[in-house]
Amino acid sequence: MGLNKMIDAKTKLMGLFGYPLGHSFSPLMHNKLIAKLGLNYVFLPFEIKPGNLAPALESIRALDMLGVNVTIPYKEKVIEHLDGLSPDAQACGAVNLIKNEKGKLIGYNTDGAGFVAGLKAANIDVAGDVILLGAGGAARAVAYALAQEGIKSMAIFDLDKSKASNLVNFITEKTSTIGSSYDIGQENFDKLASKAKMIINCTPVGMYPHVDESPIVNISQVKEALLCDLIYNPLKTKFLAMGEKKGLATMNGLPMLIHQGALTFNILTGQQAPIDFMEDVILNQM
Ligand code: NAP
Repeated sequence: MGLNKMIDAKTKLMGLFGYPLGHSFSPLMHNKLIAKLGLNYVFLPFEIKPGNLAPALESIRALDMLGVNVTIPYKEKVIEHLDGLSPDAQACGAVNLIKNEKGKLIGYNTDGAGFVAGLKAANIDVAGDVILLGAGGAARAVAYALAQEGIKSMAIFDLDKSKASNLVNFITEKTSTIGSSYDIGQENFDKLASKAKMIINCTPVGMYPHVDESPIVNISQVKEALLCDLIYNPLKTKFLAMGEKKGLATMNGLPMLIHQGALTFNILTGQQAPIDFMEDVILNQM
């Protein structure tokens, strides 16, 4: 993968902690960036078995790593082991990045900021009523970031209404956005769809290999909303394809993936990551 050729005793290590890791674009994206910018770093994926989380986190200090991305199932579990949290990570109660700041492990969350950066890079006005489908970890980060941008009203749908209500309570407590929670279902969706300016699929429904599924099967009541999907495999989910067919604007999960990666790279290395280059790397791999 065109790895950094200068690996030596000075090479700094970055990584990804999760279990199981499955397929992740992060190692490829970061190693290509490192090579392009001629930095003496390397990014490695680490499958950390349950029970090994504490020693793995301690190894960040022992190996003097720059830091690590964190993914499922450790985004919340790492928090008790850290020395501090960024305001976003503190507010969301989830960490997707740990930076080793002179032996202190500080947790960050770049998912929400990555999503918003993707919207802004596409010149999308972050305003109007928003519908979130799904109330899991990614939805929480996205909801909080959108609320920080001043979104006034947010309707949150989930299979499990109590999860949607929890997220609404969180948003109402921490921000001035007004939230409402619903069981996901066509009838509830139709009541709000015509007023929405942005509808975001934060569920995994429609992700490969279940590409024929969509969290909502009928979008006839949607008038002029931007449809977003956090999924990037496939790039065009069934949900987005339905929107395209109706002439609606759409945005897939790739900008979020790239911008959260760029933020990660910037926080760990202090270097700006070229977004177009990162996009090419991932699209070529796909
Ligand atoms: P998660 O924590 O498992 O949350 C998913 C949520 O969706 C859960 O609350 C789940 O409810 C709910 N859900 C599942 N099926 C549903 C349905 N048919 N209708 C309504 N709600 C439903 O997962 P996550 O980490 O938030 O990730 C969600 C998606 O975002 C994944 O596809 C992931 O790949 C994507 N993502 C993309 C990026 C990016 O950079 N583009 C970053 C992070 C995540 P139950 O728990 O009740 O099943």
